[in-house]
Order: sequence, then structure tokens, then C-alpha cells
Amino acid sequence: MSDPRFEPLIAFIRQQYPDEDPIPLHVPRFAGREAEYLTETIRSTYVSYVGPFVREFERQFARYVAAEHAVAVVSGTAGLHLALLAVGVRPGDEVITQPLTFVATANAIRYVNAHPVFVDIDAETLGLSPDAVAAFLRAYALPRSDGVYNRRTGRRIAACLPVHTFGHPMRITELVGLCREYGLPVVEDAAEALGSWYQGRHAGTFGRVGVFSFNGNKIVTTGGGGMIVTQDPALADRVRHLSTTAKVPHPYEYVHDEVGYNYRMPNVNAAVGLAQLEQLPRFLEDKRALAHAYRALAQQLGVGFVDEPPAARSNFWLNALLWDDEATRTAFLEYAHRRGVLARAAWRLMPDLPMYRACQTDGLPVARSLAPRLVNIPSSVRRQSLAREVQP
Ligand SMILES: *Cc1c(COP(=O)(O)O)cnc(C)c1O
Repeated sequence: MSDPRFEPLIAFIRQQYPDEDPIPLHVPRFAGREAEYLTETIRSTYVSYVGPFVREFERQFARYVAAEHAVAVVSGTAGLHLALLAVGVRPGDEVITQPLTFVATANAIRYVNAHPVFVDIDAETLGLSPDAVAAFLRAYALPRSDGVYNRRTGRRIAACLPVHTFGHPMRITELVGLCREYGLPVVEDAAEALGSWYQGRHAGTFGRVGVFSFNGNKIVTTGGGGMIVTQDPALADRVRHLSTTAKVPHPYEYVHDEVGYNYRMPNVNAAVGLAQLEQLPRFLEDKRALAHAYRALAQQLGVGFVDEPPAARSNFWLNALLWDDEATRTAFLEYAHRRGVLARAAWRLMPDLPMYRACQTDGLPVARSLAPRLVNIPSSVRRQSLAREVQP
């Protein structure tokens, strides 16, 4: 089957990335002071957990997103793990999250021996739906002295973990308001949402704590890395402590006061991160221009396009098309790969993965309708938009 809409899309994508073949989904660009800062870490010998770039990266990051505190860690996944511990999720608890996400979101819940409960997404944002969470809590929440319990499973519901999917802000204000009524802390998985705002505030700064990722495929990269942000000084201290093996500060004694983690971001990674952060505004500008062009073409061809939600400013980390049905989606992916365009299916829904098959869901009508029809298309910052990029 060949759909007449496929070739114009592929031809357009190839025009955006003329010197890449095949065209990857999302790759980093190093057009700033990355090499300079890296050399500085090596010359100084401060490559590991002590070094000025970590502090400076945290400071600049906190300022950019307007958070009081930022703690740099080795990955977004590690950040989610610490965030869940810090808001008090305990073994045997449950955490409400969405089914359409990268697997790390659900895995982090299992790392603290809690259980994910998958509640549906909104069609406009692809993020956790406050309406679906409200309906779920109305149906199952049983308030007790030490929290809200799930009357189906008998477990305590300890937190809510929404995702700003593909960089599109979900309805975080509504969700935070709802969760407050039930006394549930919100941890924002903002791994994909650096440079995204909702109602004038940066994604990741609405909940008790927010987590970002700097993996190689994210909007800016540190090689691997993540950032935990919060307005709460005690929570910031707690995640910093847990990320540095829970070592009690002392000039010469080695004392650790609980089981901690080796999750602190090394100085070499922070050096790259700082250089990347300096380029974020121009990355965002190019991604927005690319998204506008994709949207116009999709509209002209009659293909669905996942657009910026109301009241949101998206970073357009990964652009997504929505096809009429799964067969057309799959035919497009086959066509694209034959033509060297590495488009991708959306993630397999979490409750369809073997380790999450037994988890409770609310039926997930929206996620089940959308996920098999979504594809992500190449969305890297275009080379032409960068003057000083280091050519590979
Ligand atoms: C990338 C990502 C993570 C994990 O981040 P890493 O830095 O790769 O560990 C978590 N959640 C979502 C939604 C992501 O996209």
C-alpha cells in the first residue's frame, strides 16, 4: 500500500536535513563552547564529582526554569528515582502515572518498590488527564489517617507522576489542584520538556519536584544526565544527600547515615551541559520553525499533527503525526525507513509491556485509540540554523 501523502512528507523531511543519510530521529548539536569547557575540566583535573561546572550548570538551569533549587544527577531516570523517594513513596505504595511514556517513568516507580497505576491521557496534550485522574480518585480513593488508599487494591496511593509528552505541557495546574485535594504530591516527569512553558511558568516547576533529562536524544545533552528541580530547600538537600551516597559532610571521616546512591553528575558532563544550555534559545527557535513547517504540510495533506496545547508554549522536542489508523501508520514507517528517514512509532503502552501487564488501569480509551496511530518524525535542530557547529 502506498499512500499519496507519504512521499511529500518524506521529501520535505529530506530537505530539512540535506547532509544526513539516514536521517535520525533526534541527534545533538555541539555548536557552542562544549569543547572549550571540556578541555577546561581536563586541564583542571576536576572531571568527577567535585568541580565548578556542576554548581554553575545547576545555577544557570535553576535560573532558566525559575526554580529555587536544582540538583544535577547522572540521568533523568536516577532523578525520578530520587524524587519519588524524597516525596515519601514507600514500598508497597502506588503511584498514578500515564501509560504513554518512555519506560523509565514506570521503572522509577518500581525502583522504590511501589506499583504504577495507569490512568488515561488527554488527546490534546498526550499527557496525564486531570479529568481521568479525578474520575479514578472518585471511584477508588479511600481517605485514611495516613493518606489516600485504593479501595480496589488496599494499597496507599502515594504520589502522582505526569509526563509532559514530547515536550508538550500537560494540564499541570489542574492536576496539581486536584492532587492537593487528596494530599498527593506531584512529581513532574519533565524529561522532554526543557524550554516548555504552561500558563507562563516553566514545565517541571508546578509540582513538589520536577525532573529533566539530558540524555543524548533530549533537547540539550550532557552525554547522560538529569536535573531535579524544586522550590523546597529541605527536599533539595534530601535529594542532594541521597545522590552523594548519603555521606555526612566531614573533612576526613567517612560516615553515611542511610543507604544512598551514586547519582551525582560528574563535572565533565556538567561542562557539556553548560555549553548546551547557552544554545538553548536558538535550539528552541529552530525547533519551533520546523514544527510550524511540519504543521502546515500536515494540514495541507490531511494528516493529524500533535500541536502545542492551549495555554502552552512547547519546545517541540519530538514532532508527531497522527495517522487515520494503525495500518496507515505502519505503512508510513515502512516507507520512511526505505527512504532513509528513521521515523518511529510511539512507545508501546506501559501496561502492554510484560512487567506492567498486571497493573491497574482505568481502561485507557484515549491512549489505546491514539498510541497505535502516532509516529515521531525527525526533529533535530537543523544544521543550517547553526553557524559554528563542530562538523563531525
Ligand atoms: C528520557 C526520558 C526519561 C529518562 O531519562 P534518562 O536521562 O534517559 O534516564 C524519563 N522519562 C521520559 C518521559 C523520558 O523521555
